[in-house]
Amino acid sequence: MACQTNFKVRCRERSLVVQNPTVEGSRPPEFEVEISGAISAPEAFGASFDAAPSAHALELGEGLEGDPAIAFRRTLGMFATGVTVLSTRVGEQVHGMTANAFMSVSLRPPLVLISIDRRAKMGAMLHEGTRFGVSVLEARQTGLSDRFAGRVADDLPEATFEIVHETPLVEGALAHLVARVVRSYWGGDHSLFLGQVEFARYGEGRPLLFHGGRYERLIEDPHVFSLLPRELLDPILALGEQREYADGQPIMRIGEEGCELLLVVEGEARVERPGLSKSIGPGELIGEIEVLDPGGGRIADIHAVGSVRAIAVSRDQLLAALEADPRAARALIEVLAARFRETA
Ligand code: FAD
Repeated sequence: MACQTNFKVRCRERSLVVQNPTVEGSRPPEFEVEISGAISAPEAFGASFDAAPSAHALELGEGLEGDPAIAFRRTLGMFATGVTVLSTRVGEQVHGMTANAFMSVSLRPPLVLISIDRRAKMGAMLHEGTRFGVSVLEARQTGLSDRFAGRVADDLPEATFEIVHETPLVEGALAHLVARVVRSYWGGDHSLFLGQVEFARYGEGRPLLFHGGRYERLIEDPHVFSLLPRELLDPILALGEQREYADGQPIMRIGEEGCELLLVVEGEARVERPGLSKSIGPGELIGEIEVLDPGGGRIADIHAVGSVRAIAVSRDQLLAALEADPRAARALIEVLAARFRETA
């Protein structure tokens, strides 16, 4: 909340404050929250920390016309997020709703914040002391997102819930949290609930994303060279030198400059990065993107499982091979163009 207060001050200086037709007296009593104890507002943030801002007109930037509320919504839509299903239980009734207004707040104590439309049923079910679940959806769970957003279609999947800490969590999601509401705040036409996290876990996979009012996803495994026809790829690999790695030996580390492409010839290599842990074996390439953009650095730790034999092709050798065979360069451009098209 501290950041929010700072932001408010900066906005006022620039006369770019969001319109908020607040009437002091219209705040529901649940938002008259006494701030006290360890997570109260530091004095430096002033008395406005927990008060409703006064009304100001929303000024639109150059080139933006029409309904300011739509322009505001579209502006916010430029902020890419994941997608969650928030869930809670009242008696035997399990209720879920799709939400992307979820953010981490604090590590110690572990706190998260959700923002819920005051018209949503979910809002009426949450009060200080109640628990809610957060299920971070996986890339293929667009149907569940639609279901819990109240969209109607015949082919939407059924959801199944697992109960953890007496709280329903959507099965098959990428990450799960259970939090207990410790504060609730007035948030205009939304309600803000600060939750102290009691349970957290995550698995492997890719998150579902939301941007500009539509679902997006991260690009799948970044294969580039491995999509070249063998007759174009083999002469490139033939330029490389043999490498041997002992069991457990690092093959590459996150952040290192990625100036080599590696082909695993024998053995197994383990790829580890947050949210991904997988094995790669003979015939698979490592560092296909980094070798084209070495400054970006390696994005995963990779180590040998047992002994591994690989062929390393340096960036210079690779560029020389592409210069020597324009057919390979042209095929590479086509592969890259196809990858871009996948995300468009
Ligand atoms: P309802 O509209 O009654 O329920 C939502 C849907 O979930 C209904 O179809 C209902 O049948 C189904 N459902 C509920 N419980 C179960 C169950 N146990 N089993 C099976 N189905 C069930 N709104 C916000 O307030 N904040 C946000 O941050 C937010 N982010 C969003 C992000 C995205 C990507 C989308 C698509 C929507 C978002 N919304 C957000 C809108 C919000 O999801 C909808 O307004 C939703 O309908 C509000 O739910 P509700 O609590 O009013 O309940």
